[in-house]
Amino acid sequence: MSTHAEIDTSQPAIVVENLQRCFGELRAADGVSFSIDHGRVVGFVGANGAGKTTTMRILATLDHPNGGMAKVGGHNVVHYPAKVRRLLGWMPDSFGTYDHMTVLEYLDFYARALGYRGAERVQRIQEVMDFTELTPLADRLSNKMSKGQTQRLCLGRALLHDPKILILDEPAAGLDPKARVELKRLIRILAEEGKTILISSHILSELGEMCDSLLFIDKGRIVHHGDADSMRRDTARAEETLVNVQIIGPPAKLIEWALTSPLVQVVEETRCGAKLSILSTDETIIASVLKRMITDGLVVTDFHREERRLEDAFIDLLGRIDDGTFKGTPPPLPGPA
Ligand code: ATP
Repeated sequence: MSTHAEIDTSQPAIVVENLQRCFGELRAADGVSFSIDHGRVVGFVGANGAGKTTTMRILATLDHPNGGMAKVGGHNVVHYPAKVRRLLGWMPDSFGTYDHMTVLEYLDFYARALGYRGAERVQRIQEVMDFTELTPLADRLSNKMSKGQTQRLCLGRALLHDPKILILDEPAAGLDPKARVELKRLIRILAEEGKTILISSHILSELGEMCDSLLFIDKGRIVHHGDADSMRRDTARAEETLVNVQIIGPPAKLIEWALTSPLVQVVEETRCGAKLSILSTDETIIASVLKRMITDGLVVTDFHREERRLEDAFIDLLGRIDDGTFKGTPPPLPGPA
């Protein structure tokens, strides 16, 4: 069984144009457009209810749009769903196992459904179990596994037909840090194999390091796409330096000082101090702020610049869209490296 021949590589791996999906009055996808080149790993980010799952379900041929167009591997998801399913691996955000099936039986069931027969089926299941490190659990009932093991089984199921394109909806949700690291490792290997991956998550820092680019969606519309650095840059205030300051003594002392200091704003209190925004990028002004802290009696033990967190950048972006001060149009996704 081969799926690769059917991908039209002259077109992007995934293309979405002006996609619409309404549930009554609610516009869950309200003109979503983006394009992903072959071999790219793209993070899909947005608040709860922003429209990620709606968009992904349409791409996975599980729902129909009310308007617009979506293609996977060059095939229109509405007109050629069978072709799309053959070349797409889909991992939903919630997934049920069958209570009385072992890991092996479960994968065997799906491998048969996909059309694998005989030795090829046995080999394919073994490859998937090895990759997801489920071989030692082959005889384990699938409802007697940890959340991390269950997610690996779900990923294994999505990989059975060796799809070139993967859509993973919140694969790391509910996993402990160790299981997250493990899942991230598997996704990295899949990316290195050249698969195109669209992955949604709420953990922006995690996506930032794993993905070539990030796609931000809000209220059913794409509000930004680009890499993590461009997100930080586009939303950064031009004249601002973030610094993390630690002092000996209660953080309240530093906060009080910052509230009465020109050019200094409090971003957040931390355990031993605060994250501050200095409204300048001029080195002498930044140095003078530190000097003033010390002469005003604060015992500073640490003062260092901070990179803007993606979370903060995203929240700023949403605020600026709401108050109409974000005028930028999203740049196109960067092409293959
Ligand atoms: P989350 O991060 O919480 O999973 P999401 O970005 O995936 O959120 P969607 O699941 O796409 O968001 O939902 C977008 C909006 O559409 C939400 O307001 C949701 O309640 C609504 N919605 C989704 N599916 C349906 C449905 N079948 N019927 C009615 N409303 C729906």
